[in-house]
Amino acid sequence: MGRFFLYTYHMSIKPKCDKCQSELTDFGGILLSPPNSDAQVTKYHLCQECCAGVEKELKI
Ligand SMILES: [Zn+2]
Repeated sequence: MGRFFLYTYHMSIKPKCDKCQSELTDFGGILLSPPNSDAQVTKYHLCQECCAGVEKELKI
């Protein structure tokens, strides 16, 4: 269910990568911030390239 939601979400609005600003033409990643005092989470989109960069920094 969650995956299906992400799929349609990506296909309908074509977000840009929040790191390098390039349009996400392929499936990217989503980075979530910790919840703030209102328990709201900020969502960042990342292209595959930036995801790979972030993963490298995290040493995953
Ligand atoms: Zn990017």
